[in-house]
Amino acid sequence: MGLLTNRVERSEIKPGDHIYTYRAVFTYSHHGIFVGGSKVVHFTPRQNPNTSSDGSPDLYDPAPSIASSCEIFPDCGFRQPNSGVVLTCLDCFLGKGSLYCFEYGVTPSVFLTRVRGGTCTTAASDPADAVVHRAMYLLQNGFGNYDVFQNNCEDFALYCKTGLLIMDRLGVGRSGQASSVIGAPLAAILSSPLKLLMPSPVGVATVTAGMYCMSRYATDLGVRSDVIKVAVEDLAVNLGWAEPHEALAEEDTKGSGRLVVR
Ligand SMILES: [Zn+2]
Repeated sequence: MGLLTNRVERSEIKPGDHIYTYRAVFTYSHHGIFVGGSKVVHFTPRQNPNTSSDGSPDLYDPAPSIASSCEIFPDCGFRQPNSGVVLTCLDCFLGKGSLYCFEYGVTPSVFLTRVRGGTCTTAASDPADAVVHRAMYLLQNGFGNYDVFQNNCEDFALYCKTGLLIMDRLGVGRSGQASSVIGAPLAAILSSPLKLLMPSPVGVATVTAGMYCMSRYATDLGVRSDVIKVAVEDLAVNLGWAEPHEALAEEDTKGSGRLVVR
């Protein structure tokens, strides 16, 4: 792996690695978990052209015809009905793109030197078997609705690697990639982690210059204080896809504004 790029060869990746590739000429990256045997588990929009929230389904539909086009693996494109989590071969995942490996446990200084969001995180990765377990579990059980700003392929891979979820009123999300798409997002500027990182109101101009990097840093999984570790088996409950604890979660959001999970 080079110093300035996460480009890797196929022979270098191991089961449990978070890999990604660029689509549409470097405007969009697609992320997945390599589970071994030339297979990748990744999160894609469901096969519904009307699900895109921003009116550009082509840009955010990285695998429109994945199931029918593969001649290498007969089970390539496997997914549960109504699930966005799909198992494909590495070739179908990459398309014509190059292979990159997402970095975990980088230092804050390394993180801030990365020009492009969504290539590394300061959060630590869990052991490979735990990562593969989460990916395979979610393949069987789904990962909620695809939303590029709140619950996208990068969030999926980040969750599989770390077990960490960002909990707030809006649910999971705000990955580095979503931040890149909308530049320095107002939501991130106003978010409490960034306020804590700003020493004082003095030198606002300086802060603005570094705002893009800082907002990425403040929204990074490894830095945020509002992330929680969630076992994959409990995921549906914590994200509100399952009924049992919904009333409880609702109560916790009152007052604090944050979902508190005990
Ligand atoms: Zn394939």
